[in-house]
Amino acid sequence: MKILIAGGAGFIGSNLSTYFINQGYGVTIIDSLITGRENNLKHLLSNDNFKFINADICTFNFHTLQTFDLIYHLASPASPIQYKKHPIATLRANSFGTEKLIEFTKTSHSSIFVFASTSEVYGDPLEHPQKESYWGNVNPVGPRACYDEAKRFGEALLVNYQRQFNLDIRIARIFNTYGPNMEKDDGRVVSNFIMQALSNNPITICGTGQQTRSFCYVSDMVDALVKLGSVPNLSGQIINLGNPNEITIKKLAEIIKQMSKSTSQVIERPIDADDPKMRKPDITKANKFLDWQPKIDLETGLIKTIKYFKNCC
Ligand code: UDP
Repeated sequence: MKILIAGGAGFIGSNLSTYFINQGYGVTIIDSLITGRENNLKHLLSNDNFKFINADICTFNFHTLQTFDLIYHLASPASPIQYKKHPIATLRANSFGTEKLIEFTKTSHSSIFVFASTSEVYGDPLEHPQKESYWGNVNPVGPRACYDEAKRFGEALLVNYQRQFNLDIRIARIFNTYGPNMEKDDGRVVSNFIMQALSNNPITICGTGQQTRSFCYVSDMVDALVKLGSVPNLSGQIINLGNPNEITIKKLAEIIKQMSKSTSQVIERPIDADDPKMRKPDITKANKFLDWQPKIDLETGLIKTIKYFKNCC
């Protein structure tokens, strides 16, 4: 089995690549390293089944590659800090980049294409929890638009390639995910809070911390993405992947402080525009089509993640 993972040096991509290499599959990664890190792949580089191409999917010449059984598109900045820092690159990766990858899939007669979309397509949602049938509440020109609208365009492009050319395309709407290989400074709430707690610096809650998120441990996400790429007859399906266990950001800060045995103060800082007030996936579809639900509870996942940050940083 030959697998191409665009964005395989990033947080989720590197965990997914490691899983497939451990299964004995051939994995090729293409990553521009705009936000991914070669360090996430260092344990794979000497493996004969593994190939790393340092390139941007928007400009790479895909004719140099052969057919793949499975292609994942995870190539995009994904944390709010990173996509706000690289807005044009984010828009391009999910528009031109998606088109380049799906054209390659078509012309090389590769089999299955999985797109990493996001819960951000729901914006600041007016429906709760979010089902795949919800159209979302997105500001098309706000600070998150470069990510939200790019992913929405990517979805629209792909469902039309699926309809017009009958390609086997599956779309994952990925909700907040955490665990090893997260960047310590990419601004995501879990990595921020853990780094702040471990260094006994103030833990910075945006606003009052009453906004909610639902956090999925990365091994559960990998499990779901593997199933999404392998279960037969899922062409055209759009499926939420995430952990429905919803928690306020304030509560998350308290838990991380306590688990890290930190003396940090918990302080408030201004909240960014368009920060969604609540987010929780309805995972009925994932359960039905993939026979999947998360196994790792928040406390277990945080123990592993705190250990990772203690060792890596
Ligand atoms: N957040 C926070 N403190 C931080 C970083 C983030 O309170 O240091 C909040 C942020 O305002 C948002 C939530 O945590 O409400 C999740 O933020 P993250 O950047 O992880 O991802 P998002 O779910 O917003 O895409």
